Amino acid sequence: MILNLLDMVRHIAIADVAARRSAVIEQLAVAGLPFERKVERFDYRPENIIVHPLSPDTPRYVIGAHYDAVPGSTGANDNATGVAIALRLLSELQTTSSNFPYEGVLFDEEETGMHGALGYIQRVTPSKILGMINLDICGVGDTVLISYPRHHGNNALLQAVKTSLQSGQHPVQSIDRLPGSDDRAFEHYGIPAISICTLESADIDLMLQSVNRASNHAPPAIIETMHNGVRDTIDVVNETAMQSVLAYVRDVWQLIEQFHHNIA
Ligand SMILES: [Zn+2]
Repeated sequence: MILNLLDMVRHIAIADVAARRSAVIEQLAVAGLPFERKVERFDYRPENIIVHPLSPDTPRYVIGAHYDAVPGSTGANDNATGVAIALRLLSELQTTSSNFPYEGVLFDEEETGMHGALGYIQRVTPSKILGMINLDICGVGDTVLISYPRHHGNNALLQAVKTSLQSGQHPVQSIDRLPGSDDRAFEHYGIPAISICTLESADIDLMLQSVNRASNHAPPAIIETMHNGVRDTIDVVNETAMQSVLAYVRDVWQLIEQFHHNIA
């Protein structure tokens, strides 16, 4: 049975690493998504889970979310939410026919320093990756917060993001920088990447201040729950926030496809 997003998070939000990985794989099987488990030749030997694996030569977008959690944490918001949304989007894309090539990647070892993402990029090689959409911490708050690099000119991903912001159809806000996640690994290799999370609008200023270290203010309380053991549970996340992200990222992907279609 295909679960709603919240039930998927409930299923995946397990502290034990092996049980968590098994739960993710079970959800992939339930959704009928083709996947492969790939231990990358990289520090920490991260085991990434590649959904819709492509042939090595195919230029692609990456739709990514890390499935690992801080040791001891149930990692519901960070990041079972991102995984659940990615899986739902990937299932939807499977039933539409005119997709531009993409790989879904559920990254391992983000919390140890983006080792899963770095291992993936080095194996695939940066020249084969046109852009990356990163979902991390998508289960709490009324606002979809995004950050994207503004220096990539006419790249289709950035065009799509700009159009999506102008449409006014989503509770989305763009800021210069979100807290670090796998998108930074892609940026490091010059690959345009959009990072997506959710936050309560009242907490955005506090988060900006703590990211920019512009003040001694403590980060918003929700951030404190994330890397704090068993406090990141299913009780803190909600379906509405996740549905907002799903709707937003679905639109961004459609816009990316349109831009490629128009260029072709
Ligand atoms: Zn995270």
